[in-house]
Formats: sequence, structure tokens, C-alpha cells
Amino acid sequence: MAKSKLEYIWLDGYKPTQSLRSKTKLVDDFSGKLEDLPDWSFDGSSTEQAEGGSSDCIMKPVFVCPDPAVKDGWLVMTEVLNADGTPHESNGRALIDDEDDDFWFGFEQEYFIWDNTTNRPIGFPEGGFPAPQGPYYCGVGGQNVFGRDIKDEHLELCIEAGLDIEGTNGEVAAGQWEFQIMAKGAASAGDQIWVARYMLERLTEKYGGLSINYHPKPLGQLDWNGSGMHANFSNSLIRTAASEAKIKEVCEAFRSVVDEHIAVYGAYNDQRLTGKHETAAITDFSYGVSDRGASIRIPLYTKNNGWSGYLEDRRPASNADPYKVAARIIKTVKTVK
Ligand code: ADP
Ligand code: MN
Ligand code: MN
Ligand code: MN
Ligand code: MN
Repeated sequence: MAKSKLEYIWLDGYKPTQSLRSKTKLVDDFSGKLEDLPDWSFDGSSTEQAEGGSSDCIMKPVFVCPDPAVKDGWLVMTEVLNADGTPHESNGRALIDDEDDDFWFGFEQEYFIWDNTTNRPIGFPEGGFPAPQGPYYCGVGGQNVFGRDIKDEHLELCIEAGLDIEGTNGEVAAGQWEFQIMAKGAASAGDQIWVARYMLERLTEKYGGLSINYHPKPLGQLDWNGSGMHANFSNSLIRTAASEAKIKEVCEAFRSVVDEHIAVYGAYNDQRLTGKHETAAITDFSYGVSDRGASIRIPLYTKNNGWSGYLEDRRPASNADPYKVAARIIKTVKTVK
């Protein structure tokens, strides 16, 4: 008999940005199957999710994978329910209307590895700056690359956990990185991004003094890129459109709901979506083939594939909730028949 360690993960109720929480449940010889996982509860009065008088919130398991960092360990992503079983208001996953998993999402998660002592990205000298942006994106060499060992260790964890991770790259700012996860099914894509974020943040605990910074513009309005979470998406309509007009009709559907989208694309995103550094201004809406300054980019692939494929919403910030981003995109795309 082995004691299985189940790490139940949930999103707290903090505003404007929710954080990850987790606690460990021991059971005998867990089967590895989602349906064998019981609901559990936590003290919602400690996470801005309940009043002290009736503090129990329910965690309902929605995704499970092996925990590569813990012997006999499992990572259990959960959604938070009220005591009566209805979705808690902090539960973005419950907003996703994609019953048949027709929506595929590929999220590009950017982040900074942060030095808590200097309060700057890893690789930034104390009180100063490294050389200006240019050599860092996909760079190589000790003068350009900071934290590759952490990025690679995280990649290995994602692979061992069985996540649908597609790649990683060094980003435009020093100490800034990206990983991509794509899943067929919006809820699954969200689950996997959150589990990958969990493993990344937990990884920094053993490198005393480092953490992950998901702020969309952690260096303010200096000449350093912010961090996004580009949302690549498709449904069967987009994947089989074979029509420039239809693809552009989908893009046009986003025009009248800019505010609704921006509302769930992450806090402080106004600091990032300035129209500079490969972004569109937060007040604008635009789309175009291969256009990295647009709100929505039509990838060259989609055009070259006879106008069938996927689209990229470049506006979501690195700190956005992938559940809420996906739910909002689905709502808009579903208005197009
Ligand atoms: P870039 O940096 O050029 O924007 P990336 O390679 O980082 O591109 O990310 C592109 C993402 O698009 C990948 O995560 C990929 O899985 C995703 N993707 C590809 N095809 C589809 C599709 N049909 N539906 C949804 N996402 C897709
Ligand atoms: Mn207790
Ligand atoms: Mn990318
Ligand atoms: Mn990127
Ligand atoms: Mn992109």
C-alpha cells in the first residue's frame, strides 16, 4: 500500500487578480482516475471567498495528472463551488460554454523570472539595467540568457505531468520567457495553463529569492516589453472556413465587444496595450494577416491554408484567467454561424 499525495489546487477570491492555493490530501493507492477523486473543502474566509460564519467552500476536481516533483504525488485542479453546489462567483471555469470541446485553445504564457532581492527581473544588475532589448528574444549565451535552467526544469515537469505543452522560447525582455500549451477543449486548456503555472511558481520556492512575475508591465513605461498571454483559438467553423470573408466575419464579431473582452483580459493591461512593443492600443480594435501590431492576428498559416485554421487574440495579459478569456472568446465566436 502506498500513501498517495493529492495536491488539491484552486483559485482564490482575490481581486483584481486571483492566485493559486493548494493543500494536500492523503489517500491510499489513488487510481489516477478523476472520477475516483472526492470533493473536498477549504476555509473560504481565509481566501476572500466566504464569511467566517459559513466559511466552507467546496473544491470539485476537474483535472488530474501525476505530480512529477512528488513521490506518489498527483496534481488535482479543482473548481470552487458554494456549499449548495452552485459555482462560486470566483469560478471562471463555470462560464465556459463548450460542452462538445469544439473549441481548441493554444495559450502563449509569458512571464518574468523575478529577483525578489533587487525587485527586478533575473539578470538585471542591482540599481541598473542590462543592455537594451534586442539580443534577448530566443537568444543564447551568458550575456543574453537568464534563468534557462528554471525554464527547462519547468518544461520537463510539464512533459512528465503529461500536459499538452507545445514549446518554449526566450522573450524580448531580459529574464522573460514563454511556454505554449494547446488543448482541444477550452476547459482543458484552462486547466492545463493553471497546473503549469502552479508547477512554475512552486519551482521558484527552492531557488530562494526568486519568484514568477505575471504583471503585464512589471518594468513600467520603460523601453522593455510587457508580458501577454496570446490566445490562439479555433472552432470547427474557423478550422474549415475555406473563406476569407468568413474568417473576417469572425474577426468583425469582436469589434462591438471590445470592453467586454478587455474586462477579462487581465488587470493593469492598460499599461501594456499602449500601441508600442508589438501591441495594439487598448481602445483600438484591428485585425490583419501576420500583423503583430493588431488586436487579432490572422496567422499566415490560416491564409496559406486556404483561409481555414485559427486566429490569435493578442490582447490577453500574462495575468489573465485563461478560463475567463476562453469563455468570452467562445461567446463572441458563437455569434457567427
Ligand atoms: P507566435 O509566437 O508566432 O504567436 P506560437 O508558436 O508561440 O506563435 O503559438 C502559436 C499557438 O497556436 C500554439 O500554442 C499552437 O498550439 C496554437 N495553435 C495552432 N493551431 C491551432 C488551432 N487550430 N487552434 C487553436 N490553437 C492553435
Ligand atoms: Mn484545519
Ligand atoms: Mn509565441
Ligand atoms: Mn511571445
Ligand atoms: Mn503569439
